[in-house]
Amino acid sequence: MRLWVLGLLVVGCTCKETRRSDAGTRLRKVDVHVHAEPAAVPHLLALMNTHGIDVAWNLSGGWPGSGLEDALAAANATNGRVLVFANPPLGMLRQGADVNAMAEQLRVAHDLGARGVKFFKSLGLGARWPDGSLVAVDDPRLDPLFEQAGALGMPVAIHTGDPKAFWLPATQENERFDELSVHPGWSYAGRPVPTWSALYEAFLRRVARHPHTTFVGVHFGNDPEDPGAVSAALDQYPNLFVDTAARVPELGRRPEVMRAVLAKHPTRVLFGTDLGVGVGVGEFDLMLGSAGATPPGPSDVAHFFSSTWRFFETNDRDFEHPTPIQGRWRISGLGLSREALERLYSGNADQLMRSR
Ligand SMILES: [Zn+2]
Repeated sequence: MRLWVLGLLVVGCTCKETRRSDAGTRLRKVDVHVHAEPAAVPHLLALMNTHGIDVAWNLSGGWPGSGLEDALAAANATNGRVLVFANPPLGMLRQGADVNAMAEQLRVAHDLGARGVKFFKSLGLGARWPDGSLVAVDDPRLDPLFEQAGALGMPVAIHTGDPKAFWLPATQENERFDELSVHPGWSYAGRPVPTWSALYEAFLRRVARHPHTTFVGVHFGNDPEDPGAVSAALDQYPNLFVDTAARVPELGRRPEVMRAVLAKHPTRVLFGTDLGVGVGVGEFDLMLGSAGATPPGPSDVAHFFSSTWRFFETNDRDFEHPTPIQGRWRISGLGLSREALERLYSGNADQLMRSR
């Protein structure tokens, strides 16, 4: 009996919010972009229940022998509500790690239960070869990993680059000045790293080189400042999907372009938040797409989700976006139809996982 009740608690999503789109049945939601420490998964589940998220993809699953087993054990206790992505240890390349052996380990990760692969922005900006050179996003020496992911039916979520403003001087004129003031280390201005464009082009070449591997370009295809360019990439690469994680502030600046992208590619955009639980920025154990100087409180969490729904579901204009630290501008909503919301919130993600 107790187990049965527990099962109900885990499976059922007790959603407290009622919005315009909830007029009929509640919309199922799959958040394809969260980060959660194994010990924080119960906290993640509580947030999912409060804010109406049915399933979350935990992109911070670690690697066999290095966290993945714990991440999977925590996910397994959620009765399918948390799926886990594995993270190839690119930091080991500096010590001469063998990429073919890494690709074999990816099979182990898959057999253990990992459902996808996530590459962090360290690919292109931090990971290095033994000679000290940066590992390029499209370096052919990494091909076995991407081919293996495709062969195993594991989608590859890939974060390349960062907001374009991070490459500009961190002055008052920089539109991300608030964020760069709190996190000066996030600025690439004057640092010996590739340009934003060089990284983005390498990302597209990577997607092009593995037509049998499904890619999720996180943070709206790694180019949220230019949804039109992302639309062109979606035209060109049928194996590319994009998520909305931590980029509602950008996307809400150009609602009319976003509406056009979604109308043209209704099956290729996935809902994601970049919620981090137990994996915050610095010492905080909660991340809402970014982080300010103080830890987020309950009202910040409520605002994060409510303004996200407001963006996708209403035609409201000129309101505060989910993550104030990301910039002082205001955004306008998309007013998506219920059918479009069903695809964005869960249909596309469910289809993507089912078809692997
Ligand atoms: Zn993330």
